[in-house]
Amino acid sequence: MLPSLEEFTQRAGEIRARIAAACAAAGRDPAEVELLAVTKTHPVAAAELAARLGLRAVGENRVQEGVEKRAQLAPAHAALRWELIGHLQSNKARLAAGHFDRIQSVDSEKLLRHLDRAAAERGRTLPVLLQINAGDDPAKFGADPAGAARLLDEALACPHLQVDGLMTIAPLGATPAETAAHAVRTFGRLRALRDELAARTGRPLRELSMGMTGDLEAAVAAGSTLVRVGTALFGAR
Ligand SMILES: *Cc1c(COP(=O)(O)O)cnc(C)c1O
Repeated sequence: MLPSLEEFTQRAGEIRARIAAACAAAGRDPAEVELLAVTKTHPVAAAELAARLGLRAVGENRVQEGVEKRAQLAPAHAALRWELIGHLQSNKARLAAGHFDRIQSVDSEKLLRHLDRAAAERGRTLPVLLQINAGDDPAKFGADPAGAARLLDEALACPHLQVDGLMTIAPLGATPAETAAHAVRTFGRLRALRDELAARTGRPLRELSMGMTGDLEAAVAAGSTLVRVGTALFGAR
């Protein structure tokens, strides 16, 4: 069940306090870290809670689910941005490009081509992040870090795409300690890769989308600019 607005406000405050503490420890400004509310599997009311709290955007991981919820959203919240954070198949690229404000899960040249064409047809520039499998997790989507430079070059050559940065998901370990170690390694690696790619291309690649309910501190320590939080805001799915 979804929390009340009061309960939701309190939970968001707790997340912001966690972000602030991690920023303080890392000597960072908390204003550099945005909270993205992940509303997947929850009804449209979850997105409305996020909007009422003044959050800029929500994250969905399935195209169809996001499209349906966005259509149901109360008009008062029309300014809310929708970001796709789940795997996207090329055959859904057109639908996604028409209904999402940013796609965080771009992980192949084929998908880049489909999205660029779809954005061109709509006469828009579509912001994207490149999803990198920085934890080498066989169970996760995302481009191989070794192929990231090439994927970025392809993305930068797409006239209707705007590459804001990189995204990753850390692998789960067999124990909490192992999961925590994976998070530190994965996020540090994405940060280093971003710095290297930014230096090589001269593009800022400002956005580093990394960190979720369980590992946002490690992500903020490594330079995350966007933490994607579902469970701690809306409860277990
Ligand atoms: C579900 C999901 C999240 C949110 O995870 P929580 O652990 O519920 O905070 C973040 N990122 C992606 C890509 C997800 O699919």
